[in-house]
Amino acid sequence: MACQQCGRPPIYTIGEITLCLNCADRLQSIQDRQFLQAAAMINQSLDDMDAVVGFSAGGGRIPIHAIAQGIRRGAVLNNIHIANSQVGAVNTGDYVRIDAAITMMRGSDAEEAGTIIRALAEGVANTRGLDPKHKEELVDLIDALSDEIVKRRKPSVVRSLFRSLKENVQDIAALSGIAEALGAALEKILG
Ligand SMILES: [Zn+2]
Repeated sequence: MACQQCGRPPIYTIGEITLCLNCADRLQSIQDRQFLQAAAMINQSLDDMDAVVGFSAGGGRIPIHAIAQGIRRGAVLNNIHIANSQVGAVNTGDYVRIDAAITMMRGSDAEEAGTIIRALAEGVANTRGLDPKHKEELVDLIDALSDEIVKRRKPSVVRSLFRSLKENVQDIAALSGIAEALGAALEKILG
């Protein structure tokens, strides 16, 4: 079984279609936009009817602006903050799993690692000028590493994923220091 759009592991079944988290997130974004367009037309019709009869039935309007803001804010991200200027440039869906793992690390022995992973994910999302492909690789590595930490936490796997991540950020000044700190935090929990 694989996502019918991109071949990644599937998470959602929508009707007859299986989709991964990323593709399901995109589908949901399309549906959100369609809902907002339909809601705008309903509001317009109510305004038109009020204009014809000369008074309002008082039923209110669908709060399109508030809903749109809630969707754009990406309510699914509880830890990672993506700067407004980067919201369109990154695929928020990629950060959802990392964000969930950070939540799981809170209050556990991996809390410090989680805090640093958050800083790293934010650094990747908010650093301008990173090649999009490189960015995607980094997000994939952070995703795999945080997943391993909260699930199996095999020292050899954690260290190997961390080494790949560190190599991938060594030329990025804003991120290499954070990676160093993560290495130290990981060693503490691997024992
Ligand atoms: Zn997919």
